[in-house]
Amino acid sequence: MSAGMEKVRARAETLRREIQKHDYLYHALDAPAVTDAEYDRLMMELQQLEKDYPELVTPDSPTQRVGGKLREGFVTVRHNVPMLSLANAFDEQDLREFDRRVQNALGGATKETPLSPTYVVELKIDGLAVSLLYREGLLVRGATRGDGEYGEDITHNLKTVKSIPLRLLEPAANLEVRGEVYMSKESFLELNRVREERDEALFANPRNAAAGSIRQLDPSVTAKRNLSIFVYSAGNIELPGKKAPDSHVETLELLDRLGLRVNTHYQLCRNIEEVISYCRLWTDKKAELPYTIDGLVIKVNSLEQQAALGATMKSPRWAIAFKFPAEEAETTIRDIIVSVGRTGAVTPTAILEPVTVAGSTISRATLHNEDMIREKDVRIGDRVIIHKAGDVIPEVVRVLVDKRSGSEKEFIMPPACPVCGAEVVRQTGESAYRCTGAACPAQLLEGLFHFASRGAMDIAGMGPAVVTQLVSAGLVQDVADVYRLTSDQLVQLERFADKSAENLVQAIQASKARPLHRLLFALGIRHVGDRASRILADHFGDIRRIMDAEADELVVIPEIGPKIAESVVNFMRQEQNQALIGRLTELGLNVTTAKKSEANSIDAPLAGQTFVLTGTLPTLKRDEAKELIENQGGKVVSAVSKNTGYVVAGESPGSKYDKAIKLGVTIIGEKELFELTGK
Ligand code: NAD
Repeated sequence: MSAGMEKVRARAETLRREIQKHDYLYHALDAPAVTDAEYDRLMMELQQLEKDYPELVTPDSPTQRVGGKLREGFVTVRHNVPMLSLANAFDEQDLREFDRRVQNALGGATKETPLSPTYVVELKIDGLAVSLLYREGLLVRGATRGDGEYGEDITHNLKTVKSIPLRLLEPAANLEVRGEVYMSKESFLELNRVREERDEALFANPRNAAAGSIRQLDPSVTAKRNLSIFVYSAGNIELPGKKAPDSHVETLELLDRLGLRVNTHYQLCRNIEEVISYCRLWTDKKAELPYTIDGLVIKVNSLEQQAALGATMKSPRWAIAFKFPAEEAETTIRDIIVSVGRTGAVTPTAILEPVTVAGSTISRATLHNEDMIREKDVRIGDRVIIHKAGDVIPEVVRVLVDKRSGSEKEFIMPPACPVCGAEVVRQTGESAYRCTGAACPAQLLEGLFHFASRGAMDIAGMGPAVVTQLVSAGLVQDVADVYRLTSDQLVQLERFADKSAENLVQAIQASKARPLHRLLFALGIRHVGDRASRILADHFGDIRRIMDAEADELVVIPEIGPKIAESVVNFMRQEQNQALIGRLTELGLNVTTAKKSEANSIDAPLAGQTFVLTGTLPTLKRDEAKELIENQGGKVVSAVSKNTGYVVAGESPGSKYDKAIKLGVTIIGEKELFELTGK
């Protein structure tokens, strides 16, 4: 082999390995390392090499097969008809060549026999291809495309997707349906927002988010992810007494009649020029859609012609994907600033020299976190390529290192919060830096939403709209201020009347009695959820003891790991947080609780006493009353017997009340319960 040839062979081998790596990251892990455009560039280079040197083609080359990999843990199913990929067209010229190939293969396209196939053009939804098997109208199996021949059985997960009917409108229908499961732009952004808050890895785009969500081993996770489907083909159709479709358009109409979700944006085109203008139309309009599309799919309409054209190992010859041009642009990073998010996450953002990408001017791009800045080696002053991930979030793709002048500056995370000045810390194992100031205005709104929410202090009438009003009117600067609000102040606000102002003040005051663990949870200490709050409250019994606790005292408590311990210590050692807790204590919030060990001891005030609850109590909810009793060593049971110590009755009591009278059991109200428990 000549030296030149050896070089070509080595390049082809490198490309194959690179592409295989990216296939694995994208298809098996739903976590691509490069953009689709970069992947497509590698693939095109390999295709070109293999075209120029056909002797280099290997049977396992990524150009010859569908790129999917199966994930462990799923049952594997074999597709009755292989699920193929699509050949790509990157410009109008490619589309015209596709048309010529189709016409030639169909034996027409000569002046004597002008055979012009008609085409259907559909949106290419950027999601994950699935197969749905219906028997006698019922969904019996759902699978991913996998490697085209074998897919993963994801029936349970697909059953949680609301737009997939479990039963078709035609009870006798047997068929296999194919479609694309996707996530809307809005759900994608929301999912990533929540993941960012929890410091979980972000999905690169809605496609990966949809794929990652549908390939969960636990269907309850899929159910929460807000996925949808558009179906676009059907095979092995058996519809007793009805004619099977002859064309692709008829197939789409049939799918619609069966109650399946078909995208309405498709067009029947008489020739390739009509196809091209429809592609142009969507290239301009794609941003208007609530979901992402990465191109359009062009299919020969006649099913007979489709059958005549057949398929290669990798893709059908009767269809092609028109891929939108990469939405990338080159620009300069003028600065890197940090902003403080709702949970105190301090996020670096690149300030760019404004540049147009996908029809809009971009002047900022997220850099996510410090690790990403180091990984991509992004510096202030760098020339960079940016793109819009999944049409939504502008991102830095890569740095043009060759264009560096040497004057570029490395980014350094500021040690103090730019908004409130509190220390900015990065906890072990986390990618985000966070502001530790509980009174940080940037975190105030979100902190207040959480504080007043149901699982926390549960302040009725203090939803997000009211919280926003209180903050913008300057009435509340931290959660302690909430307890100083008066009805006179509230009536000044829009939408508040005497009664509603009075009700809110009452609800706020009533929340002071919430148990300590609710207050701990309400403070929004990172990683301290409902369970950890209960454990800490039970263990220490007093918030002041938690404030003094060292990490080594905390980690020995069962279920409290180093992450929680570090977070608690970080929170409690901040002066602002200590002052806040001091104010809350002065205001009369419940900062102590009987420790579990004390509650269990025979000295506890209610030790050995059983209680039955019935009716609605004036302020305490059922579980709060139960908790109060249990914290003092009492026991709450559901049925009244002559051994019952007390029946605690509220408004509209049930039959337990009558039974208590019959058996002569002492009946008390909430007030007496407070007296018994020393509250
Ligand atoms: P593809 O996504 O280009 O096209 C085939 C798929 O299109 C089908 O399987 C189906 O899922 C989908 N589709 C959407 N709407 C459709 C419609 N109306 N009709 C028919 N099909 C429709 O091909 P592929 O093999 O799934 O993936 C290859 C592409 O994936 C590459 O071109 C690249 O862009 C991307 N990729 C990226 C990376 C990366 O690392 N970034 C890695 C591998 C693949």
